[in-house]
Amino acid sequence: MKEFDTICGIATPIGEGGISIIRVSGDKSKEIVNKIFCAKNGKSMDDMKSYTMRYGYIKDINNKDTIDEVIISFMKGPRSFTAEDVIEINCHGGVISTNKVLEEVIKAGARLSEPGEFTKRAFLNGRIDLSQAEAVMDIIRAKTDLSMKSAMLQHEGALSKEINKLREYMLNTLALIEYAVDFTEDEEEIDPDIPIKVESEIKKAIDKMHYLLKNADEGRIIRDGLSLAIVGKPNVGKSSLLNALLKEKRAIVTDIPGTTRDVIEEFISLDGIPIRITDTAGIRETDDIVEKIGVEKSREKINEADLVILMLDTSRELEEEDRKIISSIIDKNYIALLNKVDLENKISEKEIEDLNNKIYVSAKEEIGLDNLKEKIKEMFFSGSVSTESLIISNNRHKQALYRALENCETAYEKVKTNEFLDLISIYVTASLKALGEITGSELEEDLVNKIFKDFCCGK
Ligand code: GDP
Repeated sequence: MKEFDTICGIATPIGEGGISIIRVSGDKSKEIVNKIFCAKNGKSMDDMKSYTMRYGYIKDINNKDTIDEVIISFMKGPRSFTAEDVIEINCHGGVISTNKVLEEVIKAGARLSEPGEFTKRAFLNGRIDLSQAEAVMDIIRAKTDLSMKSAMLQHEGALSKEINKLREYMLNTLALIEYAVDFTEDEEEIDPDIPIKVESEIKKAIDKMHYLLKNADEGRIIRDGLSLAIVGKPNVGKSSLLNALLKEKRAIVTDIPGTTRDVIEEFISLDGIPIRITDTAGIRETDDIVEKIGVEKSREKINEADLVILMLDTSRELEEEDRKIISSIIDKNYIALLNKVDLENKISEKEIEDLNNKIYVSAKEEIGLDNLKEKIKEMFFSGSVSTESLIISNNRHKQALYRALENCETAYEKVKTNEFLDLISIYVTASLKALGEITGSELEEDLVNKIFKDFCCGK
């Protein structure tokens, strides 16, 4: 078992708040904190029991000046976040107080932690696997209740369980192949039952993988949000729509064409689906530099968006500019929003007959917005969003699962065409390796480090 030094880090956001927490983890955490902690009741920390707290002061290690009034808690490993001895120091939530306390902990012998190092230790110490560790970050970054629920499921090990089941099918297959190869001299004499069993194990794995991957796109949306770009010429009502959806005045609404110059990003919750809305400057040819930046950004956003909302103003006749915008999004996944239904309609059905997914709304009067929401659910979640079942939400997991599936499918084809079992075992092993990357049982150290680098400090 690799030896770990004792690390410390600020676990709460830096700023002004009621309290800040400094986390210390490792063999020496009690010893280190004991050097700078002075309990109000004068007791030493030596007899402090796991899952208890103590009130007192953090003192300057050299001159014993009082630095801050704190409460410390002790969680003895392995029953702690990192599975090591952990002490958390609750100090006053100011930038100076927090940093001063941290400084003393470092002077007393702890090393400042790297981003994600606490969670990485929980993984390296075997308390959680990699997919569970990654879920910690997803919980922290969850945008809606639904994202949170999905991350919690993964954190509790729902994905790990499925992956381990799949690995079991693969291991059974390998065992069968090994048995057959070891006990037969000649490939021709192999027990005819064995390839049949191998085929059935691989088939079970393939079916399960297909099932897990089926909702992976929905999973990604739940985790990262559905990116939505709103496009339309100036004054069609893009900011008004954004405001209506956000229910607060974020973008500036004006009558002057072309005022929404910057791309604004916001999250809204659509029955738990996080929607990342990008309001754009509208696509149009322009010489105005500032606006041009906005326009270029808009084009970029359209290409990246999961869904484009094309807005037309029904109170004005269709113009060349609208037609240009229509032609630029017609191949994309779009909804045509015909805005300003509260005013007299100047656009005939005939003119827009080629458009799909048409919805009539009034952004200002908030008419028809529910239909828009329903349409989005219909397009991306086949109408309803399930909250109970596990879905693959992390792109890294999805890629690994696809690789596992590809190898399984090749193996399956080869069994069916009676290829040598040795050859089949190569693909089964590759599939097993890809699955191991999800839970971290087969992962290069560099990759593990890269994954944890994305975490925040103190986590
Ligand atoms: P943008 O340039 O596309 O962002 O358009 P805005 O949202 O700034 O809207 C331009 C003008 O149209 C504003 O005066 C809005 O109040 C008005 N507007 C937006 N939606 C509607 C609507 O549904 N009905 C009516 N009557 N006016 C609207």
